Amino acid sequence: MTAAYEYETHEYDVVVIGAGGAGLRATLGMAEQGLRTACVTKVFPTRSHTVAAQGGIAASLSNMGPDNWQWHMYDTVKGSDWLGDTDAMEYLAREAPKAVYELEHYGVPFSRTEEGKIYQRPFGGHTTEFGEGPAVQRTCAAADRTGHAILHTLYGQSVKNNAEFYIEYFALDLIMSEDGQCQGVVCWKLDDGTMHVFNAKMVVLATGGYGRAYFSATSAHTCTGDGGGMVARAGLPMQDMEFVQFHPTGIYGSGCLITEGARGEGGYLTNSEGERFMERYAPQYKDLAPRDYVSRSMTMEIREGRGVGENGDHIHLNLNHLPAEALAERLPGISESAKIFAGVDVNKEPIPVLPTVHYNMGGIPTNYWGEVLNPSAEDPTAVVPGLMAVGEAGCASVHGANRLGSNSLIDLVVFGRASAIRAGKVVDADASNPVLNQASVDAAFDRFDNVRNAKGGAPTAELRLEMQRTMQADAAVFRTDKTLKEGVEKMTDIAAKIDDLHVTDTSLVWNSDLMETLELTNLMPNALATIHGAEARKESRGAHAHEDYSDRDDKNWRVHTVSRVDGNKVDLTYRPVIKDPLTTEDEGGISLKKIAPKARTF
Ligand SMILES: Cc1cc2nc3c(=O)[nH]c(=O)nc-3n(C[C@H](O)[C@H](O)[C@H](O)COP(=O)(O)OP(=O)(O)OC[C@H]3O[C@@H](n4cnc5c(N)ncnc54)[C@H](O)[C@@H]3O)c2cc1C
Repeated sequence: MTAAYEYETHEYDVVVIGAGGAGLRATLGMAEQGLRTACVTKVFPTRSHTVAAQGGIAASLSNMGPDNWQWHMYDTVKGSDWLGDTDAMEYLAREAPKAVYELEHYGVPFSRTEEGKIYQRPFGGHTTEFGEGPAVQRTCAAADRTGHAILHTLYGQSVKNNAEFYIEYFALDLIMSEDGQCQGVVCWKLDDGTMHVFNAKMVVLATGGYGRAYFSATSAHTCTGDGGGMVARAGLPMQDMEFVQFHPTGIYGSGCLITEGARGEGGYLTNSEGERFMERYAPQYKDLAPRDYVSRSMTMEIREGRGVGENGDHIHLNLNHLPAEALAERLPGISESAKIFAGVDVNKEPIPVLPTVHYNMGGIPTNYWGEVLNPSAEDPTAVVPGLMAVGEAGCASVHGANRLGSNSLIDLVVFGRASAIRAGKVVDADASNPVLNQASVDAAFDRFDNVRNAKGGAPTAELRLEMQRTMQADAAVFRTDKTLKEGVEKMTDIAAKIDDLHVTDTSLVWNSDLMETLELTNLMPNALATIHGAEARKESRGAHAHEDYSDRDDKNWRVHTVSRVDGNKVDLTYRPVIKDPLTTEDEGGISLKKIAPKARTF
């Protein structure tokens, strides 16, 4: 029998789910073109995780020295450890300056140079001369509160352009037609318990990452991979989920982030002997080598007995040699975080840090227009009509096996913008809305009702903790056949307990127990896809460092992992990496020889 919920129906051209940097940039772009656009978000827009982004946004503006998009593209290709899609990486690097100038004109209060240009700082993995030259200052910053500045500006602009916001609405499931077209989304309004069906010609998933599948993460508690969960339940795949970025400098204990901008401004790491050990691992770029590299080096130091602290289990980040004025002007936020979360005065003492889960390279597969892919052997780039994904929820894929710092914020705005450009072409504002597949709407309410009335033996908080601890232990910085195999077995058992959950509170108004349970049902498929993908990948690439297969294997593994999750089962297939750029060398693009795979050293 179908669960009986009354609901209100809303019709739009476009419904964007998520109001972080990606969702807001998409919403703004759609609204600017006159598409009737709704943005649905479970938290107030300016509380999305993007607000916490500190360091900055990458674009080759050349404000601080020579730079160009070809160098940015090369660094992104190399940063991805040759797993990114080359067309998307070219699009990102080429469009980045335009997207940043647009932000400037929308009103983002960037920090300035003496001449009044946008201030740019160095960040890990960003170099000159196709990796042959010195580090470049490419990361545009609004002090150490860049995400905050971007989010507030984009929200204001979206409201100005008449986008309609549905705030504190929790998206439950996608509405899919029988022939696989996305037609909208079913939502639960958190503050009054009413139910809402959004009928749309285009749905854009901008729901962010799933850092909370792990025990210690820099991401907000709201980063629960809801987009991935919805996609999995619609029978659609996720991609490259085994690539999880550990940020080198999470504050020891709390996991709170200290931006890479701290090293960009001259900070450096030391071990228990006071040694600047990064000089040994990455002689050229030292502390500004990419994140996977630095995180691995730190883990090696700790394992070899050179960690700091009573238990020798972390590393020091030193900023105390920098002038107090520079810290106050360029890094005010992290000075405060270090005080609050580590009790450290950055002017005097080093900050205790540890690699902490930070970013999900994997996500919902898309092309560089943000259109969601449902790859098959016959058509590896088949598009799902009516569905897009942007931001950390998506996988275009520009970050491949490892994301460069400050390349996510630019990904949000470049692909948020691209999705709007594309929607302007494929969405017909004059056409009538689709006739909804009632079976799909009913299925969403049935699932909601089942979760709401779950009376099994596993409380949500306990099961979540079991999942988080398992992921933290078995899908960590270093991975082995043994840990991964055990991880798969444990996660299979843990995921089976989803059918045995216990929800105490069945009310519909401000029911955080129910919301967290729904979030757990979303985290679980993300976690499963991550550990299965990692277990299957018999090589080391980017963030996936496998001790039993320490080399990259381009012959067998330069492929995207495509994972479909059904309950606690995961089906893995693979699709080829797109190797061709958008333009040839003759057209001003990058030469294929330049971006051919080679050993990745720094
Ligand atoms: C502490 C920190 C610092 C960072 N610093 C940088 C940096 O300096 N530079 C950089 O490039 N990158 C940085 N990153 C990475 C970058 O900030 C994130 O990848 C990016 O902000 C993600 O943006 P998003 O728009 O995809 O998602 P988010 O900002 O996470 O927003 C997700 C949105 O989806 C909504 N949502 C989710 N699920 C649902 C649901 N079921 N129903 C309704 N709404 C839903 C939420 O309400 C929210 O509005 C940082 C990340 C962290 C955690």
